[in-house]
Amino acid sequence: MHHVPFLVEQTDALIVIDPQVDFCPGGALAVVEGDTVMPGINGLADAFSTVVITQDWHPAGHHSFASSHPPKRPFDIIQMPYGEQLLWPDHCIQGSAGAAFHPHIAPTLERAALIVRKGCNRSIDSYSAFFENDRSTKTGLAGFLRDKGITRCVLVGLAYDFCVAWSALDARREGFDAAVLKQYSRAIGMPLHDGRTTTMLVEEQFAAVGVVVIG
Ligand SMILES: [Zn+2]
Repeated sequence: MHHVPFLVEQTDALIVIDPQVDFCPGGALAVVEGDTVMPGINGLADAFSTVVITQDWHPAGHHSFASSHPPKRPFDIIQMPYGEQLLWPDHCIQGSAGAAFHPHIAPTLERAALIVRKGCNRSIDSYSAFFENDRSTKTGLAGFLRDKGITRCVLVGLAYDFCVAWSALDARREGFDAAVLKQYSRAIGMPLHDGRTTTMLVEEQFAAVGVVVIG
């Protein structure tokens, strides 16, 4: 049994972000050690009465893929109608093996009350579990959590500095308390022009809006 690093309340939801094959070593958009968080998350999930999992779920030809914008390459930045978009390798295409949940997350999947699929809109990316990247189209997750009487989101998964971070920041925007469990997440840690990394950037944003980082 894994040690849960805080008291879990009935009003807490565990939100497991994108525990998918493509985000693990060997996948199309692998996060270093991404697979190593799965056993710990399974232990955590036992302690929560509400568990939600998100699944990145793109149609082929999604506009967040570099392959949709030749001659652009993965990790280039382009301007979309909703602002800047970082371009990714093709990943998590609906129904593909890479879009499947990692086999080691199966116990958490069994406990999940809700699977939120995101990134289904071909023209808008969606890092966050709550809003697409236009920052206005909702996934419906906030309404689900409010209907369940949830007041705090506890977030884990992949990747810490993208989909986990954007979800945590949006949980605050939607009026929930938010905590990120760093030891149950792994980051991409992309360098920015100014010498910082995406991990440093999101941790500044966490501090500014009251997202608690545990571990
Ligand atoms: Zn994606």
